[in-house]
Amino acid sequence: MKIRLAQQLDDNSIVDGDGIRAVVWTQGCSHACLGCHNPNTHSFTDGFLEEVSSINEKLSQNKIIDGITFSGGDPIFQIASCLEIARHAKSLKLNVWCYTGFTYEELMIMSKINKNLSEFLNNIDVLVDGKFELEKKDLTLKFRGSSNQRIINVKKSLKDKKVVIYRKYMNSKNKKSKEYLFV
Ligand code: SF4
Repeated sequence: MKIRLAQQLDDNSIVDGDGIRAVVWTQGCSHACLGCHNPNTHSFTDGFLEEVSSINEKLSQNKIIDGITFSGGDPIFQIASCLEIARHAKSLKLNVWCYTGFTYEELMIMSKINKNLSEFLNNIDVLVDGKFELEKKDLTLKFRGSSNQRIINVKKSLKDKKVVIYRKYMNSKNKKSKEYLFV
């Protein structure tokens, strides 16, 4: 199986989610957000094809990462390939983040008829959802570009059947006082 990428696997990013991460830069996106930072990733024919097995092998060999992040482009347009990578990442006990221009609610509807998407959501931990909205752009936000986008705890959202925002605990001994929200 192959995946179309915009650039080679990033193997030590610290700006695309918690900790040190490998980033899968997928090629192809039709959301056409005004002010998009990565217009070169929109075409579904540009970039290059990479074997999913090659990416998985690189992830297996990388001993410094805490997790992987799917970005782009929009990874959802190559859901079968992304699912294979996400499954492999989980087998390595890595946490998985995904950026998408779709909202969580849209993905829930789509996943009812798309088994790969449903399975993919079961294999990711955090979803940063929604299109980039230029009028809501805010450079102070962590891990997202505009305030409409949400950083979602996918496992808890699926369990509770509603959107649950991702929270990170800085100090497990005193969760309440050290808790912060990615607002
Ligand atoms: S979803 Fe992301 S890559 Fe696609 S147009 Fe919007 S900002 Fe750009």
